[in-house]
Amino acid sequence: MRKYYLLFWGLIFWMLSTVLQAQTHVRYLQNQTPTYAEMIQFYEDVSSRYADAKWMKVGLTDSGFPLHILVLDKKQRFDPENHPEQVVLLINNGIHPGEPCGIDASMHWVYETLTNNLLSENLIVVIIPAYNVGGMLQRNRVSRANQNGPEEYGFRGNAQNLDLNRDFIKCDAQNTQAFYEVFRTWKPHVFVDTHTSNGADYQHVFTLLSTQKDKIHPALGDYMRDRLEPYIYQHMQEKGFPVIPYVNSIDQIPDRGIKAYMDYPRYSTGYAALFNTMGFTSEAHMFKSFRERVLATKAFIQILVEYMKTNGSELEDLKKTVNALTADGLTFPIDWKWNDTLTVPVKYMGYEASFSPSRITGHPRFFTIATNPLPTAFNSTTDTT
Ligand SMILES: [Zn+2]
Repeated sequence: MRKYYLLFWGLIFWMLSTVLQAQTHVRYLQNQTPTYAEMIQFYEDVSSRYADAKWMKVGLTDSGFPLHILVLDKKQRFDPENHPEQVVLLINNGIHPGEPCGIDASMHWVYETLTNNLLSENLIVVIIPAYNVGGMLQRNRVSRANQNGPEEYGFRGNAQNLDLNRDFIKCDAQNTQAFYEVFRTWKPHVFVDTHTSNGADYQHVFTLLSTQKDKIHPALGDYMRDRLEPYIYQHMQEKGFPVIPYVNSIDQIPDRGIKAYMDYPRYSTGYAALFNTMGFTSEAHMFKSFRERVLATKAFIQILVEYMKTNGSELEDLKKTVNALTADGLTFPIDWKWNDTLTVPVKYMGYEASFSPSRITGHPRFFTIATNPLPTAFNSTTDTT
């Protein structure tokens, strides 16, 4: 009888924990993002349930709490020194915890992938669930007041009030030292840093900032431009999230185009590029609903995973080749200039712009008329040496 009693309560406990876990990874559907403690609990739960997942501590952050990673490896080796014929995707979330769509997108993606046994043997996915732990702990409702949800979120600065996405060279934060450890240990083939945008308005839910292709090795730059990016753009379009490069407008209205973003190594993708890793900063649009932003970011992660599963050996060969060429290099350019004569056309779905006098200053104030979608095409410039 006692055996059945234990079994009964064990079943109840399992059902309850399953329900709670389910709530955490889809909290974004209610315009909410988990607290730090809830997120940690979620990852501890999934890693204890699934042998393909390992939850690890990797150094400290300025908050005094450790930095964690979740490693997904269907071969269950979890060994950065020994993973032949496997490529590595590294996803960094919550560097700006006020922009948490990647935190939620990764949780839901992990849950779906593990419960449906969708991992592939040739791909290791390493996830930093929340990089800026101190910022995530400073939960508030006001530091991104013009962002459309979630109801509460973390703060941009870390425990030292540093912007961690400007710290990858000066390395003032313990978070950055821990990141070096993760990055240099796992040597990812592709790196993603998830964000939410900070200003411009347009119809797209999702924008993408790729590593500046002219400042990385030509073989890597060409591959990104000709293979990986077209795949991402095509599949995001098919999933209902047409992508535009990050809207870094030349003028206030982007009629003259978007200026390519120069990701110096102080930024995460610029740092990744120093190691011949293709980097992407995803920027979901701050005015779209939190739900849409999370779903777009999750779709992006899934698309990258599919690409890496299918093209793993090609990515591995490319990285080896470019690493060897870099090792043999004698000179390395480190200074760059914007060339506004090189342009590529992009399809931009904007809104009609208008200017009205400000009631305070009397000067013209810029508005977009969101009810007037204006599909337009224009040229985007590209940086070069
Ligand atoms: Zn950001």
